[in-house]
Amino acid sequence: MVLLDGKKTALELREKLKLEVQNRPEGVSAPHLAAILVGNNGASETYVASKVKSCEAAGIRSTLIRMDAGVSESDLLQEIDKLNKDADVDGILVQLPLPRHIDELKVTMAVNPAKDVDGFHPENIGRLTLGMDTFVPATPFGIMLLLEAYGIKTSGMHAVVVGRSAIVGTPMSLLLSRNSEPGNCTVTITHSRTKNLMSLTKQADLIVAALGKPGFLTADMVKEGAIVIDVGITRVEDNNSEKGYRISGDVDFKHVAPICSYITPVPGGVGAMTIAALLTNTVTAWRRRRF
Ligand code: NDP
Repeated sequence: MVLLDGKKTALELREKLKLEVQNRPEGVSAPHLAAILVGNNGASETYVASKVKSCEAAGIRSTLIRMDAGVSESDLLQEIDKLNKDADVDGILVQLPLPRHIDELKVTMAVNPAKDVDGFHPENIGRLTLGMDTFVPATPFGIMLLLEAYGIKTSGMHAVVVGRSAIVGTPMSLLLSRNSEPGNCTVTITHSRTKNLMSLTKQADLIVAALGKPGFLTADMVKEGAIVIDVGITRVEDNNSEKGYRISGDVDFKHVAPICSYITPVPGGVGAMTIAALLTNTVTAWRRRRF
């Protein structure tokens, strides 16, 4: 079994981006990412903080805009509009989830597609579906970069994606089925209404578990030698930990790891790659806008 080290791979990618930013032509400013954080949800705070920290390490400028949990939808949309018009901003991200009184789709659609480094705008999702150049949502993009970094050839594989969300499962299935390497898989996308999920995962050469249920994918659901990608990040109460919780993936790592060919750990797998993919998208947006 080979551990797919997302942390190490993300670091290597970040170094490459840093070099590209350092070697920019004279007179061109470094890339600039603007992140909007609404409210003070603990997990969102942590995610945004590590995104900002990673930007710094890659020589990318970042601005964190904090808005009160009670901010009105129109004020948030106005802030996005300001960033859309700001020539010095290359990428915009709005940390999800948003408070209930705000329509997430409306907010997603307000971001200029050329600055949509999260790849959530319908225009970018449409481009992805058509196999055009786009900003690929960071988590599935990070997974593709990780497979590529390990030289894993997926052509002809049967991939089973567990979860069909717009930000992970659905774009993941599109990427894996694309005519590319990695890619060229025969993809089965599954969800909470899927009957007999185990019979499908058992046939899979590659499984992406993205459902948000700790330890869901057990060893009896996995074929010997399969590649297992664990997207799940759930805080599980843990009195032995200083914080009172630990982060758990969707895979029963202890029992699945010994039977598969490759597996991502949690933490240190997909999470780290998600940030590296976001930075990659930001540098791409910068290159497209400024050169
Ligand atoms: P969502 O809650 O949006 O989607 C979960 C999906 O899982 C849904 O499609 C749901 O089906 C499906 N599902 C739920 N239960 C089952 C089941 N028993 N069998 C099969 N499918 C099931 O979650 P996200 O996609 O946003 O996130 C998934 C996980 O990944 C979470 O733990 C999240 O924290 C993590 N995550 C990690 C990231 C990273 O960087 N590592 C980034 C983004 C997310 P249905 O559609 O029918 O409801």
